[in-house]
Amino acid sequence: MPKLRSNAFQEWFGRLPGYVGIGNVRYTTSGKCDDASLIQGTQPVTASIDGLKLALSFNGNIVNTLQIKKEIDQYFTDFVYGCDSDLVCHKLLLELKQGKDLASAVSLVMQSLDGAFSMAGVTGNGDFFAFKDPHGIKPLCAGHSPDGATFAFSSETVSLDMNSFVRDFELEPGELVTVTKDGFKREQIIKNPRKAFCAFEYAYFSRPDSRFDGKYVYEIREEFGRNIVREFPEIAKDADIILSVPETGDDSAMGVHEESGLRWERASRRHRYVTERAFILLNRERYSTIDRKVNILSSKVDGKRVIVTEDSVVRGDTTKVIIEKLRRAGAKRVHLFVTFPRIIGPCFYGIDMSTYGQLIGSKHSAEDIAKIIGADDVCYQSIEGLVRATGQTHDELCLACITGKYPTPLAQKMADEMKQKFLHGYEEKARIYETEETSP
Ligand code: SF4
Repeated sequence: MPKLRSNAFQEWFGRLPGYVGIGNVRYTTSGKCDDASLIQGTQPVTASIDGLKLALSFNGNIVNTLQIKKEIDQYFTDFVYGCDSDLVCHKLLLELKQGKDLASAVSLVMQSLDGAFSMAGVTGNGDFFAFKDPHGIKPLCAGHSPDGATFAFSSETVSLDMNSFVRDFELEPGELVTVTKDGFKREQIIKNPRKAFCAFEYAYFSRPDSRFDGKYVYEIREEFGRNIVREFPEIAKDADIILSVPETGDDSAMGVHEESGLRWERASRRHRYVTERAFILLNRERYSTIDRKVNILSSKVDGKRVIVTEDSVVRGDTTKVIIEKLRRAGAKRVHLFVTFPRIIGPCFYGIDMSTYGQLIGSKHSAEDIAKIIGADDVCYQSIEGLVRATGQTHDELCLACITGKYPTPLAQKMADEMKQKFLHGYEEKARIYETEETSP
């Protein structure tokens, strides 16, 4: 275990038996959303059969959930579906039970799942391993303690930094890494020519102090801000000050400030103790949470033409609340600068926006969205600008929710079918990949 600076943590860790462990802080984006199901879906998930045991911690989403569930049901008669993490855990255990070694079992799992999965796991024998789906959609890195005695996997480099660990490498798509007494053992299980790292990680999901390819996410977001000013110079000229949606728009606001020379006023403040993430709340809760969470310093805004920076517009309702507040505070004009291009399709890979109906950008243009949320205009960064700033190429990123081109075949099929239905007035009642109508 790492040397912990906090006595409380030290004491807590000291009480845990054993020498290996996994954890997870992610909310579930599959299965039911009621409290009991969310508690049941808490990770890591575990499974056991005939003396074999497995625990898995999972980041991503499985698209062919229903197909895998049918298979699991045949072997685990008491299996109760909670979320896709359960399915993956049972599927891997099943392959191990059939006598396969870990690499062969992981290979079969990689071939049978459609979706995004970055996993860390522990077997009943204490074997510690991690692997990434063949497209490498979600991040996962490996590192070690300064004394070389402890090894760790983490979605983001920030947790290695915080524990004074050294980052060793980002797992390759389709790679399995096991921890041995000599350190990390790396095996390329499946080689896929098409990498598809989630572009939304750069704009919203990852912490700004995490690094990908040696670059802080913060630096990339600053470049996003500079890009929007270059792409909309006339609108940048029609503004007196910059304001950021706290805290998601802060990093790009610095770039907007640098490129435009406009003053960045810290006049939108976030309530320190209202900590719910509006993104994952129910509709009715989202409005009141944002209303309580963000306050505007009226005298800084009154009579001003304001650029508001935001990382993304998903449903549009949170941005709408902030613009309403700015108008009440006397803002003369409100230009919205959004770093992630217009989201036109659902995500099946781990971000909780999984139906067309919930996405304001799936049926409205930027001009329409401006009218709906009360802005004078909505200026999205271009896809080209976003890709360039990440330092990746189009073929190395997943851009599915902004282009409609999904990197995995089943996701593409589901998206196409559901889009047709949606355009003909069909009302989606659940996450697309969990409905019978779209199962393979
Ligand atoms: S669809 Fe969008 S949010 Fe989902 S993995 Fe791809 S880029 Fe990321």
